[in-house]
Amino acid sequence: MKTIHTHRGHCQKCLRVHAIDVHTGLVAKHGYTVDGGYFNGECYGSGELSLHVSRELTDRIIVLCAEDDAAYTKRAEALKAGTITPETARNGETRKVVKQTRRGSYNTYEDVMVPFAEAPANYQRDAVRIAVHAAENIARQARDHRKMMIEWAAKIYDAKVPAYRNEDLESGLKVGDVVRIGGKTKKGFDATVEAIEDRDYQTFGYRRGRQTISIPHARITRPATTAKVMNYDTMKMEVKTTPATTYWEAVRSIKKPEGTMVDILKKAGLID
Ligand SMILES: [Zn+2]
Repeated sequence: MKTIHTHRGHCQKCLRVHAIDVHTGLVAKHGYTVDGGYFNGECYGSGELSLHVSRELTDRIIVLCAEDDAAYTKRAEALKAGTITPETARNGETRKVVKQTRRGSYNTYEDVMVPFAEAPANYQRDAVRIAVHAAENIARQARDHRKMMIEWAAKIYDAKVPAYRNEDLESGLKVGDVVRIGGKTKKGFDATVEAIEDRDYQTFGYRRGRQTISIPHARITRPATTAKVMNYDTMKMEVKTTPATTYWEAVRSIKKPEGTMVDILKKAGLID
């Protein structure tokens, strides 16, 4: 069966939005890069159910993060109390090291590391300080990551948010959004997006004259209006009613409401 990607959703591992196989509900294969790009590879959330239908994998990661937080917090405390020490420390000496590059070699100097017990007291203190800092950093990262996983599991799985339809993400609008048509003018009105689909649109392309392109449109309804107008034949005020009309408006000409799903996802860095 041909894989058709009509929907996208959150990976349970990296939380980023990826294509979903509509037949299996599984997240498409995707890469994974940790900040700074020092770890690259396939995200192990690939081929798993998306966060829209399962939070099992996310919950396992939440537990692992809590374990990391506890372990590294404990390590930092033990280092501060002196019940454990770093393995090595500087002894104040440096040694010349010859580094090879494609253009030749150059000299650099490296700190000489010795077993902790053999290092002078001031370098032992430095080593402890650096080790405490490193452990506290990892603990904090684990805490932050755990918080983010808990937040998104609640926001997507617990709130039963269905997988995103491609057209909703592309248009920046989704069905149910309330938009203001016609701005703050008297003729302006609030409308609910009833449907979104690609429809033909007449445009003037650069040097190519009129063209028809297919772009997302939103179906909206202009509510019925009544207005009092003067009938100059009878010189009496009359009530004129304009019935409600439903029509398709190009999404590109609709001002997006603040805080659409795409805005939120972009802000969180979960979508390109
Ligand atoms: Zn992932």
